[in-house]
Amino acid sequence: MDKTIITIPGDLPGLSYSLTVLRFSGSDPAAPTAYLQAALHGNELPGVAALHVLIPRLKAAEAEGRLRGSITVVPFANPIGLNQFQWDDHQGRFFYGNRVNFNRAFALLDRPDPALLTDDVDGVSCDRRLKATLQKLSLDADLVLDLHCDNEGPNYLYMPSELWPHSADLAAALDCPAVLTFEGGTDASFDEAAFRPHLAAGNFEKRVVATVELKGIHDVGPETARRDGDGLYRFLVGRGVIDDATGAPVGPFTGKGVPQSYVEMVRAPVGGMVFFHVGPGDTVTAGQLVAELIPAPGDLDAVVPVRAAAPGVVLTRVLARAVRIGDDLLKIVGDHRSPTAKDGGALES
Ligand SMILES: [Zn+2]
Repeated sequence: MDKTIITIPGDLPGLSYSLTVLRFSGSDPAAPTAYLQAALHGNELPGVAALHVLIPRLKAAEAEGRLRGSITVVPFANPIGLNQFQWDDHQGRFFYGNRVNFNRAFALLDRPDPALLTDDVDGVSCDRRLKATLQKLSLDADLVLDLHCDNEGPNYLYMPSELWPHSADLAAALDCPAVLTFEGGTDASFDEAAFRPHLAAGNFEKRVVATVELKGIHDVGPETARRDGDGLYRFLVGRGVIDDATGAPVGPFTGKGVPQSYVEMVRAPVGGMVFFHVGPGDTVTAGQLVAELIPAPGDLDAVVPVRAAAPGVVLTRVLARAVRIGDDLLKIVGDHRSPTAKDGGALES
């Protein structure tokens, strides 16, 4: 394993960030290569936990001559967001310097040419330098996994529609009940930017690019880390990156693979305290009460019911119980385009 620390200068004198990059050398130049990063949103640690389990297994595979394809791992992909606290609260999603989401506004290239990525130079703000650096590190990999998490929920994936269902092995390895595919833009998220340079070349069976949502933000611990790390390992074995005949092969995918426009984003109609009547995994019918908003405690006439627009399965739920008007409450995956779907862009801001 080769460990490199890339220094990203901060936007004022005296400040800098360290990005640790781990490289594992494969023995077969024809084998698929992989790139994994975690915590692009600085406080989303289930992916970091999974990598904590995976990395020793990659070291062993390399040492024992079982690593066929080369692998690059960036365990903390966002040292800027990792260090953003405000009054004891971790704020890892948006860069304090400009309020841009760390997983938006990546450069969209029409070919995998690192010379087109010119932001990792002096004079460019640290968030843009970080984004260009991560893109360069991942540009040539056949398998690109960006490990995130949701608020509360199971493992699930986002990926370009061109890669579905060829990438169902990843979903199966991670026990995902759902895969959400996107066509066109997602506001230049990392996965869109990792896929776009390879769009013209086709050969999609060989390629996997996914945003991997590893359960909820509080699902960080030894047991979930072991399960997710093992799932990632078995996926890499199944793809021929690692030789290992000892583990169970990845089984068939039994969940739902649907366009992300099939997701109903249930939003708060008013601000207040929320009572949920459903949680992740629950099946709902059209019109079913899924939550109540309580703006004036004790005033039963003021309670605002929130109902599902269409039948489906609850995928995720927000952690907060004090919500503002318009806040996302639930994602419900239906069997058809959601009546509330918007045209294009990411599901969340
Ligand atoms: Zn995220």
